[in-house]
Amino acid sequence: MTQRSRKGADHSEQCCSFCGTPASEAPLMFNGGDGASICSSCIEHGYGLLLEHDIIAGAKPRNAKGGKGSKGNKFEPITREDLMRPAEIKSFLDQYVIGQDAAKRYMSVAVYNHYKRLLSKGKTEDVELDKSNIVLVGPTGTGKTLMARTIARLLRVPFSIVDATALTQAGYVGEDVESILSRLLQAADYDVEAAERGIIFIDEVDKIARNGDNPSITRDVSGEGVQQALLKILEGTVVNVPPQGGRKHPDQQYIQVNTSNILFICGGAFDGIEKKIAMRMNTNAIGYGAKTKQRIDESNIMQYIQPQDLRSFGLIPELIGRLPVLTYMEPLERKALRSILTEPKNSIIRQYQCLMSLDDINLVFDDDVLDYIVDKALEFKLGARGLRSICETIMMDVMFDMNTSDGGEFRITLDYAKSKIDRAV
Ligand code: ADP
Repeated sequence: MTQRSRKGADHSEQCCSFCGTPASEAPLMFNGGDGASICSSCIEHGYGLLLEHDIIAGAKPRNAKGGKGSKGNKFEPITREDLMRPAEIKSFLDQYVIGQDAAKRYMSVAVYNHYKRLLSKGKTEDVELDKSNIVLVGPTGTGKTLMARTIARLLRVPFSIVDATALTQAGYVGEDVESILSRLLQAADYDVEAAERGIIFIDEVDKIARNGDNPSITRDVSGEGVQQALLKILEGTVVNVPPQGGRKHPDQQYIQVNTSNILFICGGAFDGIEKKIAMRMNTNAIGYGAKTKQRIDESNIMQYIQPQDLRSFGLIPELIGRLPVLTYMEPLERKALRSILTEPKNSIIRQYQCLMSLDDINLVFDDDVLDYIVDKALEFKLGARGLRSICETIMMDVMFDMNTSDGGEFRITLDYAKSKIDRAV
C-alpha cells in the first residue's frame, strides 16, 4: 500500500493511509505492514459505522455523533468505556511531554481516580470518595501547564488556566477568587454541565504562600486570605460566578457552578523549597529517635517533597489538605531539551516545518543546529521556554523573506543559525 500524504505536509512524515492526516496532527497513529498507517480518528469513524450498521454491538464512540469535524457537543460526558487506565493515560502523555516520569504516573492515577469517582457517584453506598486535586511543584518551563493541558485534551473536558497572583481577597484591588470559574465557563462555551466536569490549572500557586516578606499590599497582607477563599472552591461547593470574571457587584447576573467534580491542578516553582526539604531531611536524619540515615540523592532533592514542605513554604494546612496529590517536575537537562525540540507530536521544530509546508517549502534543520539551540537555551537558563524564543530568532528572517512561490527546500545550517543569534545578543 502506498502512503497518502496531505498536500503540503512534510513528505518524510508518516501520514494516515486513509485520511492523509500527518502523525503530528493525529491523536494516535497505528502502523501496519508495508508502511501503512491508520489514525485513531479513522478507527473511531470506522467503529461508529460498524455500530450504525449493527455489524457489532457496543457503546457509541465518544465522537460518534459526527466524528472528526463534527459540530456536535465537543465536551460529551465521559462514560466508563471512555475512561483510560492510568498506563494508557501515561502513554498518551508520553506523546506530548518529554521525561517527567514520576509526575506523569501521579497525574495518570489522580486523573483516573477523579473520573472514576465522578462515574461512581451514587453507586458507592458507604464510602465517599474524596477529590484528588493535584499540586505540581517544579521550575518554570518544565511542562506543568503542558501536562495539565494534555490531560484536558485527552479527556475532552473544558480546561482553563488561571494565574494565582492575579487573585485577591475580597475587598482588595484585583480579581475575586470566583473569577477562576468564569474562565472555565468561557472555555466550556457557557455549558455549565460541561464546565462542572472540567479541569482548572492554577498557576503560580506558590505566590499566594503565607510569607512574612511578601511585598504585596494590594492582595492582602500575607496571601493567606486568597488561600482561605480557595478552600471551599477546591473542596466542592456551589459558587455564584460572574460570567465575565473580574470583581463581583450587586447588579450582576450570576451563573451557579458546582465545583465538586472540577479537577484542580495547582502548579508552582516554589523557589527555594529544596532548602526546606533538605532541612527537614537533615533534621529527621539526626534528630532524636531517627532511623538509620538514608542515602539522599542531593542532585535531586525535589523527589523527597512532602506536604509538610509546602507548609513550611507558607501554604496553609487546610489548603494542603485539599490538594492530596503532590508531585514534582524535574529540571530539564540537555538530553530532554534536545528531545523537546523534535520528539513531541507538536514539537517546536515540527511546528515550524508544518508552517513552512503550508507554503510547500520543505524546512530542514541540520543536526548541529539543534545541538546549538539546546546549548543556547542552557546558556540563557531559560529551560524549554528558551527553545522557542531561540528558534524564533533564527527563523524570523526566513519567514519574512520566504518567497512563497519558490517551493522546494530550505536548509538551516549552523553558520546561518549562529549569524542570527550573534546578531540578536
Ligand atoms: P511550566 O508550566 O512548567 O512553566 P510550560 O508547560 O508552560 O511550563 O512549558 C513551556 C513550553 O515548553 C511548553 O509549551 C512546551 O513547548 C515546552 N515544554 C516544557 N516542558 C516540556 C516537556 N517536559 N516536554 C515537552 N515540552 C515541554
